[in-house]
Amino acid sequence: MSTFTEIGLPEPVTRSLADAGYVTPTPIQAQAIPIILSGRDLIGAAQTGTGKTAAFALPTIARLGPAAGKPRCLVLVPTRELAVQVDENFQKYGKYLGTKTALLYGGVGYGAQVKALSEGVDVVIATPGRLLDLHEQKILDLSSIQVVILDEVDRMLDMGFIEDVTRIIRFCPKERQTLLFSATVDERIGKIANWALRDPITIDVRTGSTAAETVDHAIYPVDVFQKYDLLIELLKKSEFKSVIVFTRTKRDADRITEWIEGHGTPVATMHADRSQTERTEALKGFKSGKYTILVATDIASRGLDITGVTHVINYNVPEHPEDYVHRIGRTGRAAAEGEAFTLFSPDELHSMHQIEQLLGRPIERRKLEGFRYFSEPILTPGGAKTAAPRKRNR
Ligand code: AMP
Repeated sequence: MSTFTEIGLPEPVTRSLADAGYVTPTPIQAQAIPIILSGRDLIGAAQTGTGKTAAFALPTIARLGPAAGKPRCLVLVPTRELAVQVDENFQKYGKYLGTKTALLYGGVGYGAQVKALSEGVDVVIATPGRLLDLHEQKILDLSSIQVVILDEVDRMLDMGFIEDVTRIIRFCPKERQTLLFSATVDERIGKIANWALRDPITIDVRTGSTAAETVDHAIYPVDVFQKYDLLIELLKKSEFKSVIVFTRTKRDADRITEWIEGHGTPVATMHADRSQTERTEALKGFKSGKYTILVATDIASRGLDITGVTHVINYNVPEHPEDYVHRIGRTGRAAAEGEAFTLFSPDELHSMHQIEQLLGRPIERRKLEGFRYFSEPILTPGGAKTAAPRKRNR
């Protein structure tokens, strides 16, 4: 297996990798880095979890070289969360070259973003709306952009950003390197690539070993007042080795902890109102196998690299669709098989629609055999969750 030096990365960049503890490039890094370093355009078919962010950030930082104080690389992403992650990557890998970044996304004030831009940056990481806004206000100048990176293009399409993205690309110089990353590569992606990229090389690292693909997803429609009971039944029947139960609120996390412990299994609990010591203790206990169940709010769904989780159960449908992906990403890591179940009540139909839109497909509805449903669950996608209450004397 090759090293980061062998695939062409220069010393200030490899030093940051040594700090991060990365020893060998992931498959997408091994393939993409030499191509990007050569200046060619690239289509990368890859999902989150493959190391794709470093695959584009490392060679781009190397090509940009020392900080020059004007925006030379633009990274467009669909969500704030992804923008933050990409920004962290650029800062981490560019620390010995002094790479400066600006993180631009909507829903927050302009002050800090305008200030960052005025101080001179090398890399701009942005969601499309806010970027257009700042460009229109002439706060951001795109005329010195040399590299455009379009990340998670399939999601940008699904979220209706494509017109904004094409407008932004038009503002960038024609002479540039363009890199496109997407988890799915279909006709729509092909069209954009044809228009925005020049003679690209395509690499595909979708081997079926990424979290989303090795996880068996299912939705369990149920009346809201039967969720506690269904959760206990699911835990009994799912033969989990280790399971994370996600809740929307801290209160739910505490109540469910009590409920499960009341049924005889000790539980580790993590949410924002638990002290750092308690959270560390809970995580340590869960990782070591002392606890087989972790009940957590979304603070536990991001960035925690917990291996060997066999099951994720969403007690609520996540409010933000990307949280669903983050949550189920806790299982099925590194080619291990996992199962992700979501308890779904009628009031959560809107959130569920959004998740299925983001995934681009419906998730299978299931009924738990042997569970006494108060009303018969509807198992067709799109329908409300339950039919009329079952007659008591049936
Ligand atoms: P990504 O697919 O970009 O979301 O990256 C997934 C995770 O893998 C992140 O936590 C990275 O920090 C980590 N990572 C990326 N490249 C490597 C590598 N070569 N060795 C170890 N970890 C890595």
